[in-house]
Amino acid sequence: MTPIRRQYLKIKHSYPDAILLFRLGDFYETFDDDAHLAARELEIALTSRSMGKNLKVPMAGVPAHALESYLSRLIKKGHKVAICEQLTTPTSSRAIVERDVVRVITPGTLVESGLLDVKANNYLAAVVVESDLAGLAYADITTGEFAVTQLPADRLAPELERISPAEILTPETDESSPTDGLSQQDNYAVSPQPGLSFDLALARDALLSHYGILSLESFGCENLPLAIRAAGAILDYLGRTYKSGKPPVGPLSTYSTNDYMTLDAHTVRNLELFQAGRWGSSALSLLATLDRTRTPMGARLLRRWLGQPLLDVAALESRLDGVQLFHDDAFLRQAAAADLSRIADLERIGGRLESGNVTPRELLALKDGINAAAELAGRLSESGNSPADGPAGLQLARLLTPLPDVTALIDEAVAPEPSGSLGEGGIIRPGFSPELDRLKTLASDSRRFIADLERQERERAGIRNLKIGYNQVFGYYIEVSKSNLAQVPPDYVRRQTLANGERYVIPQLKEYEAQVLAAREQIEELEVDLYRRLCRQLAESVDAVNRLAHGIAQVDVFAGLSEVAVRNGYVRPQVNNSSVIAIKDGRHPVVEQTLGAGGYVPNDVYLSNDDARIIVLTGPNMAGKSTFIRQVAIITLMAQVGSFVPAAEAVIGLADRIFSRVGLQDDLTTGQSTFMVEMVETAAILNQATPRSLVVLDEIGRGTSTYDGLSIARAVIEHLHNDPRLSCKCLFATHYHELTELAQTLPGVRNFNVAVVEEGSDVVFLHRIAPGGADRSYGVHVARLAGLPPGVVNRAWEVLGDLEKPSGKSAKKARSRGPAAMQLPLLDASQPLLDEILKVDVSNLTPLEAINKLYELQEKARGGNSV
Ligand code: ADP
Repeated sequence: MTPIRRQYLKIKHSYPDAILLFRLGDFYETFDDDAHLAARELEIALTSRSMGKNLKVPMAGVPAHALESYLSRLIKKGHKVAICEQLTTPTSSRAIVERDVVRVITPGTLVESGLLDVKANNYLAAVVVESDLAGLAYADITTGEFAVTQLPADRLAPELERISPAEILTPETDESSPTDGLSQQDNYAVSPQPGLSFDLALARDALLSHYGILSLESFGCENLPLAIRAAGAILDYLGRTYKSGKPPVGPLSTYSTNDYMTLDAHTVRNLELFQAGRWGSSALSLLATLDRTRTPMGARLLRRWLGQPLLDVAALESRLDGVQLFHDDAFLRQAAAADLSRIADLERIGGRLESGNVTPRELLALKDGINAAAELAGRLSESGNSPADGPAGLQLARLLTPLPDVTALIDEAVAPEPSGSLGEGGIIRPGFSPELDRLKTLASDSRRFIADLERQERERAGIRNLKIGYNQVFGYYIEVSKSNLAQVPPDYVRRQTLANGERYVIPQLKEYEAQVLAAREQIEELEVDLYRRLCRQLAESVDAVNRLAHGIAQVDVFAGLSEVAVRNGYVRPQVNNSSVIAIKDGRHPVVEQTLGAGGYVPNDVYLSNDDARIIVLTGPNMAGKSTFIRQVAIITLMAQVGSFVPAAEAVIGLADRIFSRVGLQDDLTTGQSTFMVEMVETAAILNQATPRSLVVLDEIGRGTSTYDGLSIARAVIEHLHNDPRLSCKCLFATHYHELTELAQTLPGVRNFNVAVVEEGSDVVFLHRIAPGGADRSYGVHVARLAGLPPGVVNRAWEVLGDLEKPSGKSAKKARSRGPAAMQLPLLDASQPLLDEILKVDVSNLTPLEAINKLYELQEKARGGNSV
């Protein structure tokens, strides 16, 4: 076995569950099983290498310069990758180069900018559950964020959904899987860890020693054992994966989920906060509509705020003040936007500073960013001088602490236009290190000397095309072509014979060569050393840089929200602790964007726990019911994020939770039937809502037959209304116009409908919400609008007419006795047919399917009639 093979096996032994990328010169090689795996996953050639007598092992490798793209493919496929580097430079002696793993790369510990989404955090989370309590910690090592909480176990799933970690650590001994409740749509890796990783005493010690403190009290988690265990597991994991230096996490922040509105995954999806539509495009999400931030940290903060609406009036007022400041001052808004555009991703640069991976250009970007922030701070404090602005400007200015030491140091040490790679002498600014400058002069003087020498030798030998060259093997040489060989002076020493000439050296040349090479080597060493020291010195300010980055993020979000508010005509909501939600001329912020100016019909809403608690909203399909009820939920949420809202006026009594559910939507990812999903979700609301909650239900009960659905819908409304634990505010959109009767018996229920006008057999949607219930569904009208063939529509009119004729009276009678008393006429052959027509999902039908369906319906109608 060769020494390299022995070295490889020893290292591989410590990383059995990772693909080991073993640096061999210009390649990262994999061997044995790793090679088979890498060849398959990366579609690279599987070769073999002789590594001892009669020992050939499978091998597959990737070029070192292309590492990042291959890494991303392995990580995306869920593999862990251990990077094994050469730690000493190869020398001519036969001693083997030292090698060791410098990092294990997992989905939650990426730092490669090419593998990260600029506008989203990449979180590593750790979770430990004990009976009904859970500890949760999460960190983003690219920004240094590190947060921890202890929470009731049943709130873990929504909290994890909010964080949306790339990787979750769990104790391998844990039988209850904390990730059970998570939707499988989210893409995260679960990495079980040895139980000791979550040990309380070890975790506490690890935290104390990481921060060099004696008690966790200052972090606020001293008495939260599960939180400490989760945080300890993160540190432990980072220690094992991120091997170069201390785990790159900043101060630990302890938070409580009680401080935020809980948003479950269904609500996040239904309200399309981060992704719109079923295909997950983010172009029309609420986030995309509200995001006018200019910096990556601002974009990430806005995303975080949208996922964590506040419950505290004072905190919201202070955010709203921030937005207002920029809203009211167009000049400040524009100037701030310009300043912010000049600020790079200071959070991630800060993170790389700690790990020593920061490039000179990033250091310059850090300096420019700090300077731009200082200018912005100046503007803000000036704006705060005018009494009309209030204290918001000064408060925001205070978030942007200047860091003159950092900028001065970068200014002094880094060349304004850094050139070449580190070690070539173009990175450190002239004047920073006299020694470096001396060596650089020496190197360039020597070069000039060689040019002089060339001229001198040409004259001495009388050879006009004599030239001095350089190659790796021989160093500097004098080259003379064949035709001039006779003139070569006697002191020339021949080194190499070429096809058309000879190469010589002279002592003078070799002397200078030694100088040049020595100088270059020294330059390389010194520049690398100076740069490392510079980074280390700057790394001492990492916490300050992160604080500044967080301040910039806040100002960026305020400025961005104000820009959206001005552009789209939003107003400042009045937030309070009342039980009222009153919105005048509210609009749906995203739908409004798609319709263009003036296209959206604004609507009012008034909800109050004291009287109008539940709104039953009826109207035909496509009238705008879903849009309206979501609009109320979104405006409430926006107000609790601290944003202005799309309305003429809005009073928002803070909601502790918003629930949003849609009936009739297959959850394909979990393989559950429509109706089952609908009922499971509805049950969750009935179990969790409080009087302060806002519940938005869209077509609940639709996934089953008419009478089942109607009964369930009715029972749900009655329960929401009557159960004292709930009695929450609710918007219930339904096409069951029979539900309007509830208003007669339940005092907190109000009927509204979406106005339509009937023009002959057409309906025109006015999208206006009016008091009172709709008295019919207009289903056939809508089917006609949707383009169902005229024959089908006409037949549907006939069937509907028949249905309404004989049973019309009895249906009316039945309705006055309540839906439960209604009965389908027995043996009515048309009803199934009508049901079937109504069930047709017209918008998802291909023309061919439509014709087939029509044919089938006609066959059934004939058959039915003959019965
Ligand atoms: P429903 O839930 O009643 O079936 P939707 O809420 O899905 O109807 O609305 C159907 C379409 O009507 C929406 O896609 C939107 O384009 C339009 N719409 C809804 N509300 C309004 C409004 N207030 N103003 C203008 N267009 C609207």
